[in-house]
Amino acid sequence: MTDIMDFTEAKERINVLKQLIKENNEAYYVYDAPKITDFEYDELFRELKKLEAQYPLLITSDSPTQKVGDKISDGFKEHTHKYRLYSLDNSNNYEDLRKWYERILKEYPSEKEIELVVELKIDGLSCALSYENGVLKIGATRGNGIVGENITENIKSVKGIPLKLPQPLNIEVRGEVYMPVSSFERLNEENIEKGLKEFANPRNAAAGSLRQLDSSITARRDLHFFAYTAISDNDIFNTHSGALSLLKEAGFTVNPNYKVVKGINPVIELCEYWGVERFNLDYATDGMVIKVNDLFKQNELGFTSRAPKWATAFKFPPEEVWTKLEGIELSVGKTGAVTPVALLTPVQLAGTIVKRASLHNFDEINRLGINIGNEVLIKKAAEIIPKVIKKRDGEDLGVYSAPSECPVCHTPLVKPEGEVALYCPNTLNCPAQIKGRIEYWASKEALDIDGVGESIIEKLLEKGLISDFADLYKLTVNDFMQLDLIKEKSADNLYNAVQASKNPSMTRFLTALSIKLVGKETADLIANEFPTLDAIKSASEEDLIKIDGIGDKAAKSVVEFFKNPYNLSVLNKLEEYGVKPQGSAFEKLSDIFSGKTFVITGTLSKPRNVFEERIKKAGGKVSSSVSKKTSYVLAGENPGSKFDKATALGVIILNERDFELLSQGNIYE
Ligand code: NAD
Repeated sequence: MTDIMDFTEAKERINVLKQLIKENNEAYYVYDAPKITDFEYDELFRELKKLEAQYPLLITSDSPTQKVGDKISDGFKEHTHKYRLYSLDNSNNYEDLRKWYERILKEYPSEKEIELVVELKIDGLSCALSYENGVLKIGATRGNGIVGENITENIKSVKGIPLKLPQPLNIEVRGEVYMPVSSFERLNEENIEKGLKEFANPRNAAAGSLRQLDSSITARRDLHFFAYTAISDNDIFNTHSGALSLLKEAGFTVNPNYKVVKGINPVIELCEYWGVERFNLDYATDGMVIKVNDLFKQNELGFTSRAPKWATAFKFPPEEVWTKLEGIELSVGKTGAVTPVALLTPVQLAGTIVKRASLHNFDEINRLGINIGNEVLIKKAAEIIPKVIKKRDGEDLGVYSAPSECPVCHTPLVKPEGEVALYCPNTLNCPAQIKGRIEYWASKEALDIDGVGESIIEKLLEKGLISDFADLYKLTVNDFMQLDLIKEKSADNLYNAVQASKNPSMTRFLTALSIKLVGKETADLIANEFPTLDAIKSASEEDLIKIDGIGDKAAKSVVEFFKNPYNLSVLNKLEEYGVKPQGSAFEKLSDIFSGKTFVITGTLSKPRNVFEERIKKAGGKVSSSVSKKTSYVLAGENPGSKFDKATALGVIILNERDFELLSQGNIYE
């Protein structure tokens, strides 16, 4: 559109863009509460830059393209920076990145390649720290690059910032204050509970936490610092990577994922790599920063009014994007939980086309206040399926109401006390649950039966050849031959894969049973505690709760599962068809601790799990908390409150020597 604008149109559009950018700068920099996504903001900014490049006469000194950030908020003392802070020019495509490199290379015709440092662009808040004689004197925000906010008291509680350096340096250190994604999510959960405002993203949470007038609030927030620049009047380093090494030695946290490379191709490879890998980090990155390594060259290349010419940023495709909620699909899982899934107008997000997003449960829909037809912001997270973050402000279409009956078998849904999910109680006959359980049984996470996936299971169910996962083991090669199979899934292969899964580990077997609230981790805890399936079947809720990591709800669910006649009939069938889990990892070697429960506390001569294993192998149990039922407390050095509780309850306390004697048959009662 901008290509065909005449001067007057361009002038009008430039004014609109300047105003829009100004308003959004204020929301972002002053109130830490953006109204649009960074991607949308960057699009406005690029459009303005493009128009100004076409009509340079229209560039004014107040244009956002000519300055950094925006005004600083009242309440903080102003700090005039000794060295000016800049922003970074950025692009979102490799072509622009190559052009930037070519421009630099042209300045150095005698060089084949230029050495560059490639770093992650941490999405936080930039800060400048001044050290005098090695002591932190001032911490300030960037502000407009010339004047920032003095936040020295607040900066002192940020992790990764030494208050005193090992050497008496006069130095300015710059870096990014950020909040780990996990801490951001926790803070938002707490804020929701307290009815306080939610932060839009970790960057805004970090900025909002750091720019608190009451520094005790900042100190309570989990803020960290990655240092990425050091400036000194004395020549103590002559490369950027040298400055990073010095920062590390001086006690700053430097992000470990930087690389020194030659030429632009390895830069692009790193951008590709981190574009995917970034979702596995516990801090937000919105791109990569590429800097000329040689400080002499940096000096020669210099700055524009807004950004250095010797550095640029590559912005990753957006992690968040707006789209329309077209529908809500209700999926019924293997345990009967009914989960809403958002069906979206397909949209590009972080390099993939997204059509569905997670909505978790109906409480979440209520919290978001969304309905079909709303514009929603979706975000790419570490999980494969993105999630819905919020709806557009002021777009009120009412709230989608939770279903009252199962979308598959039409049984009225129930909401067990203390749970957020709605369940279809028709465990035995709901086709969705039957299919879900069989699919899960054969899945990678459970028994990993090669080739037996959704479509084969659907066909087996359609033909009435199976009605539960135990039935898989009665199938013959002939049965599989009745299915309309594609070549690589021959009947022989499927039959053999099923038969080969008959002796799974106890953990896989328990996981595969689809017991409510029992995933792989919980199954593993149970499998490690009980040597046989019979022992698990007869375990009481109390026995299960004693296992460290198992709560009362999971314990109740396991006991109920093994009491249920339908489940018992499936288990009997499995036994009949020769499906038998292997014994637990803790093969019993003796009965010497049979019926005894141990609690371990303090520091022992060997890792705790060595003692745990010995106790279990001798038939004993290990619990995490001391009660009247505890037989012994094995206490190492510096024991904690468990020792005091054991003393108060009169439980026998053993040191390691006593434990050895006890293992050899000496009884302490
Ligand atoms: P920027 O965030 O794009 O880039 C410059 C900043 O990158 C530096 O100031 C520094 O803080 C940071 N940075 C992170 N890692 C770095 C590293 N390793 N080396 C050097 N610097 C590093 O630029 P900006 O001027 O701070 O802000 C503009 C951006 O802010 C926009 O592109 C947009 O993403 C966002 N913004 C969004 C809104 C909105 O309404 N959504 C409004 C204003 C700004």
